[in-house]
Amino acid sequence: MAKLRSSEIAGLIKQQIESYKSELKTDSVGTVIRVGDGIAIVHGLDDAMSGELLDFGSDIYGMVLNLEQDQVGVIILSQTTTIKEGDTVTCTGLILEVPVGEELLGRVVNSLGIAIDGKPAIVAKKTRAVEQKASGVMARQSVSEPMQTGIKVLDALVPIGRGQRELIIGDRQTGKTSIAIDTIMNQKDQDVICIYVAIGQKESTVRNVVEVLEEAGAMPYTIVISASSSLPAPMLYLAPYAGVTMAEEFMYSGKHVLIIYDDLSKHAVAYRELSLLLRRPPGREAFPGDVFYLHSRLLERASKLSDEFGGGSITALPIIETKEGDISAYIPTNVISITDGQIFLQTNLFYSGIRPAIDAGNSVSRVGGAAQTKAIKKVSGTLRLNLASYRELEAFTQFGSDLDESTKTTLERGRRTVEILKQGLHENLTVGQMTFALASLKDGFLDDVKIEDVRRYESELYSFLETDKSAKALKDSINQTGKYPAEEDVKDVLTRFSRQFA
Ligand code: ATP
Ligand code: MG
Repeated sequence: MAKLRSSEIAGLIKQQIESYKSELKTDSVGTVIRVGDGIAIVHGLDDAMSGELLDFGSDIYGMVLNLEQDQVGVIILSQTTTIKEGDTVTCTGLILEVPVGEELLGRVVNSLGIAIDGKPAIVAKKTRAVEQKASGVMARQSVSEPMQTGIKVLDALVPIGRGQRELIIGDRQTGKTSIAIDTIMNQKDQDVICIYVAIGQKESTVRNVVEVLEEAGAMPYTIVISASSSLPAPMLYLAPYAGVTMAEEFMYSGKHVLIIYDDLSKHAVAYRELSLLLRRPPGREAFPGDVFYLHSRLLERASKLSDEFGGGSITALPIIETKEGDISAYIPTNVISITDGQIFLQTNLFYSGIRPAIDAGNSVSRVGGAAQTKAIKKVSGTLRLNLASYRELEAFTQFGSDLDESTKTTLERGRRTVEILKQGLHENLTVGQMTFALASLKDGFLDDVKIEDVRRYESELYSFLETDKSAKALKDSINQTGKYPAEEDVKDVLTRFSRQFA
């Protein structure tokens, strides 16, 4: 128990005497006995509820995180604080809420939903409590509609469905954020609202992201929530919950939302800091015992609602940063077990020029297959096998040239598979474009193209799909219906294109 100073003790005794007469009233007023690092320990709030908002006066609020026998641990919801020991604190009886609704679209806000983009204050019509129970099983239905990322290797190998939770995991600088941002860009005109939650990142990094989104015309349907690394831990802790709360408002009104948490490793670290300051017992890797619950109660709020409840959805793409590819550390294993699949990014692939640096062998989507666009499903069936057998054989190739025909074919096919799955930054593709690119591999058209020409083949194919009238019609119909057209029509386009490709 924290030690009390004599003046405080005197104060407390005085209070107790007063409270002898009207117990109820003074129960909701407490005294700060310790403050620092975004945390306050308050004595005398017997009535405080977990998650309750406390008023520290002069427009500073805190949220109760720890309820102990004779004190409460409070996180201070302010970027700067003038709170001193001995200050009075009052219970508000309220739970923390953030503004929600369309007014937030196109804006950059902090963890409390307050604008930080220098534009006029946000006047939202509604607010929602930040801590909410996730919708129950009965209110949900299985994931069935695709959430196209516009990235070939993902839409083909690890398809994501609306309402799914898919983890993006990898070391530093492996393209994690880029995948998330490109996926946001790909939602343009798709009636999907996007929320990007930046946790513990540098302000300049977030500013760059906002710039990229602005340039791509993605801001009108996006909300950016930023809790930068320079802020106290409570703001970082709250950011993803504020984000999902804003997302829920849209989901419950029947809309589709994509939310990115970039990243939950830093979120866990902020929570560990808070917990240690609140003197919670540290466990594995010094994280508090409930760190699993920290992320499960967040990610559980992503869902696909049943039609009865409007059919809206929240798709969550949490990001986790690993150290030297160690996915067996505490936080990575936790989040892997909470999500419906993961996209593994690898440093060595990234540096060998395979970008996006997705490790196809370890990346899975456990529910998205049911939601995969039909046309893409049709052309991507053999990709995983191609890549696996290629990787197996690759090791042998260094032993010389005595390879039989079938081995050579597998190797050549594998090389072209790796090549066609490469994709540059912000080069999102439509379903139609992807279908043709992958069909050119599947139907053997790439077999006659030199490895170094594969990417040029691809980009010229996309031009052909715009300039050639019947090819364009076919591509547009795939885009509209998501269905694979007649086999011979696709082959006809690819034959005509390949004939003129030099
Ligand atoms: P951090 O760990 O710092 O958050 P990150 O894993 O989020 O990094 P990004 O910031 O997305 O990685 O990307 C790192 C760098 O790689 C950036 O400079 C980005 O432009 C580049 N990059 C990412 N994806 C691709 C790609 N598909 N093609 C080319 N360059 C890429
Ligand atoms: Mg990043």
